[in-house]
Amino acid sequence: MHEASVMRTVLVSILDQLKDNPDAKVVEVILVIGEMTFLGHEQLAFAFEVMTKDTPVEGAKLELKVENTKVKCSKCTFEGEPKKVEFDDAQLAHTMVASFTCPECSSAVDIIEGKDLVLQRVVLEVEE
Ligand SMILES: [Zn+2]
Repeated sequence: MHEASVMRTVLVSILDQLKDNPDAKVVEVILVIGEMTFLGHEQLAFAFEVMTKDTPVEGAKLELKVENTKVKCSKCTFEGEPKKVEFDDAQLAHTMVASFTCPECSSAVDIIEGKDLVLQRVVLEVEE
């Protein structure tokens, strides 16, 4: 499961942030998920729940935000959202990636946003 390995990486970096605050407890984690990562939110939430067990992150609220896809045209100056594509099915979506074109001139585009998963914020609570 791809989501599990992604979440493991996220958890490592969360725990890394806790090194400076050994008494802190994580109350909230905010992840920004690029539309083009095709990561399942439910799978991510499940992996988070399972992996945080018996760690200082256990019980933290996980918030998932979606980052829309942004492309840059290789020919003209267009930069923005590609032609609207529905991502109902991951397999189908993968096929559609190849067919992304510039809405202005129909040239090939480079995806510049929406490809990554970013750990946006970790909210800590320090017990006195
Ligand atoms: Zn163009």
